[in-house]
Amino acid sequence: MTQMTLIAATATALPEPVKNRHLIGGRWQDSGDGATFERVSPSHGVVVSRSAKGGETETAAAITAARTAFDDGRWSRLPGKARAAVLMKVADLIEANVERFALIETLESGKPISQARGEVGGAADLWRYAAALARTTHGDSHNTLGEDILGVVVKEPIGVVSIITPWNFPFWILSQKLPFALAAGCTCVVKPSEMTPSTTAMLGELLIEAGLPDGVVNIVLGYGNPVGSLMSSHPDVDMITFTGSTAVGKLISRTASDTLKKVALELGGKNPQVIFPDADLENAADAVTFGIYFNVGQCCNSGSRIIVHEDIADAFVARVVELSRQVAFGDPLNPATQVGAIVTPEHNAKIDGYVRAAVAAGAEVVLGGGILEVPGLGHQFYQPTVVKGVTPDMAIAREEVFGPVLSVLTFRTLDEAIALTNDASYGLSAGIWSENVHTCLAFARRAQAGTVWTNTWMDGFPEVAFGGMKQSGQGREIGRYGFDEFLEVKSVVMRVGRTRAPWVKPL
Ligand code: NAD
Repeated sequence: MTQMTLIAATATALPEPVKNRHLIGGRWQDSGDGATFERVSPSHGVVVSRSAKGGETETAAAITAARTAFDDGRWSRLPGKARAAVLMKVADLIEANVERFALIETLESGKPISQARGEVGGAADLWRYAAALARTTHGDSHNTLGEDILGVVVKEPIGVVSIITPWNFPFWILSQKLPFALAAGCTCVVKPSEMTPSTTAMLGELLIEAGLPDGVVNIVLGYGNPVGSLMSSHPDVDMITFTGSTAVGKLISRTASDTLKKVALELGGKNPQVIFPDADLENAADAVTFGIYFNVGQCCNSGSRIIVHEDIADAFVARVVELSRQVAFGDPLNPATQVGAIVTPEHNAKIDGYVRAAVAAGAEVVLGGGILEVPGLGHQFYQPTVVKGVTPDMAIAREEVFGPVLSVLTFRTLDEAIALTNDASYGLSAGIWSENVHTCLAFARRAQAGTVWTNTWMDGFPEVAFGGMKQSGQGREIGRYGFDEFLEVKSVVMRVGRTRAPWVKPL
């Protein structure tokens, strides 16, 4: 095994399995047929949750509840101030429940507890920012159209929104969508991933406690089929916002096209960081290490390929390897752990397959490259891995590995670095490391990515829009642009005098 920093199982009392039910029209419900599903912790092998398994009946009921709640205006017609008050209260309740939520999030997803605490606590800020937007929604007025005419462009909630989320950041991604949809005045049907249903269901309790009217948020637990697909096809849904894989995103887009509902997609990425010799290389090496191991690389923003200038490639990779050995891998429940478990054994095998294929194609593993056993916890972990000699045609350079596996490519000129950056079907994020502002700006302008980081990686703020180009998605999330996705634009043209010339001219 590779020499690395390993945190063995820590003696911790594990909680009893959480019991989750659907929230439909303000009532907690089991499935009509009594079906349930379990989530077993990827790190600890215990049952973390037992959830009602939704079918078409529960999904249709949730959509009807959201439709009724939207159409009768119990939420959509409230003043922004009243909506903001509820969202602010939810934020306070989230903060008061960080420990409870973080523990379950950690056990279901395998992410380290310190990271889960940061994500749950940090999500409160997204709710507060959305609350501010609820009070500042406005359109345009046009008073230069003629003396007797006033044009007013207003923004209205789009209607019923389906929200489908993945397992890698369950509570954070939900909070990138739900408070913004609610701030806009929409009503929602939410489906978390079948692998991480609990914190979404637990949020339902907080929404009720905060005074959200019944039926405004409905939660259906279950699988892509039939729950997610009915949420994408149903004619009473006005918009679907989805975060997950590009393959499922395309499927949803096709399903939604029959009713022409609006579709917003946050999908995969194969995100490059370009490193020039004049960069602060110590800072860059640390950020590259963070970028590849954060959430065990199971991250849409994973910095899974670096494009390093030939002159510094060997020294830079050596430093990244050195830092990689210092990153604490192991028991997610230990607060010192920085990197936890892989979501399923099948996914672990898939990650390993990418590494084996790269080696067979001539690449060289300089660190790791295998499934990892953590003493006391088993094998659902992967070693920190660095692969050099990667060429642009290899699957490991083009596809989303979604594991702690860094691919190293090299370049000589800025043009070459930009060509390699853009040689991908994805376009989520990209980074540049250089002390030369001209280099950074040229790269930022030419990189095909929804976010470009210069001399940093994965810095995000509720104010700054996030989303992908190309096959990384469509639409934007968070910030004012993300909020606008949940708003429809209506133009009101008012003739305020008696100056309209008659069209009918009697002969
Ligand atoms: P996934 O596509 O397998 O599942 C996502 C969700 O879609 C789950 O809730 C699942 O039940 C549901 N689903 C599955 N089939 C469906 C169908 N036919 N119709 C409707 N819903 C269906 O993705 P995942 O494995 O949970 O998440 C990992 C993926 O998410 C990666 O590709 C990652 O890059 C992407 N991701 C993107 C972002 C972003 O913001 N761009 C953020 C996080 C994750």
